[in-house]
Amino acid sequence: MSPHDRAHGAAPSVPDPLPLPVVDNHCHLDIVRDDTSDAVGPGGAPGGTGAATSTERIADALATAAGVGVDRVVQIGCELESAQFTVAEVDRHPGMLGGVAIHPNEAATLGARGELADALAEIERLVDHPRVRVVGETGLDYFRTGEDGRAAQIESFRWHIDLAKRTGLALQIHDRDAHDDVLRILDEEGAPEKTVLHCFSGDMAMARECVERGYHLSFSGTVTFKSAQGLRDALAVTPLENLLVETDAPYLTPTPWRGSTNSPYLVPLTVRAMASTLSTDVTALCRALSDNAERLYGPW
Ligand SMILES: [Zn+2]
Repeated sequence: MSPHDRAHGAAPSVPDPLPLPVVDNHCHLDIVRDDTSDAVGPGGAPGGTGAATSTERIADALATAAGVGVDRVVQIGCELESAQFTVAEVDRHPGMLGGVAIHPNEAATLGARGELADALAEIERLVDHPRVRVVGETGLDYFRTGEDGRAAQIESFRWHIDLAKRTGLALQIHDRDAHDDVLRILDEEGAPEKTVLHCFSGDMAMARECVERGYHLSFSGTVTFKSAQGLRDALAVTPLENLLVETDAPYLTPTPWRGSTNSPYLVPLTVRAMASTLSTDVTALCRALSDNAERLYGPW
């Protein structure tokens, strides 16, 4: 079967297990994908959240992942409904911690409707749950939101930064085509002690700036894409202690399954690609990825 056939065929096969367990730092197990584009994401994505979610389906996904050494995940709920769902599910799965926020694209939508303040008040209530250890994903998305939505995004981003600082939780940032403003706003507000750039998409210079500030960089399946040499260059200058790995499932499926539905059990493909870029042995990388996540989020 050619890689092209695979991308549009059956579910990706289960990779070889990792030598040590790791954490999927960012996934959306509530979202059931109904398209094959990897350009979409939460915050207005087609498909969205809702009817098809089930505790059993998630338990299955977590069991398959644990079988290949991905025994812990951070489930991100970044619209009101999925944040509420996340808080309910984290009590049902010992391998799952949660993160809640209003996604930047959703912040723009809610802002236009005059509903942002109420939504943020609900996030503040949900973040109180002891198994919610992340404020996120928040940040800026200049790819999907135009000029008219930026003020609401920025207001929402600043609010989430403050929430992370007040709660002592880690902040997970979504940054799409907004690198300079993300770094500037973090500098202006004063970044939380635990700051993570989810699905890092910057270049080598940005990676260095983030590391200098003590931020963590979470790499997704995009780092395995043939076209992503710039991202691999960024990874190559990031110290092990600043690294995390994630799926952003159900999106951003690693090579050779790009275009298929992503799930935490595919993390080993990304970890092995990272180890090869870093010229590091896979075991040492797994240990760092696990230790970093436990340091940021606490024990599962
Ligand atoms: Zn995400």
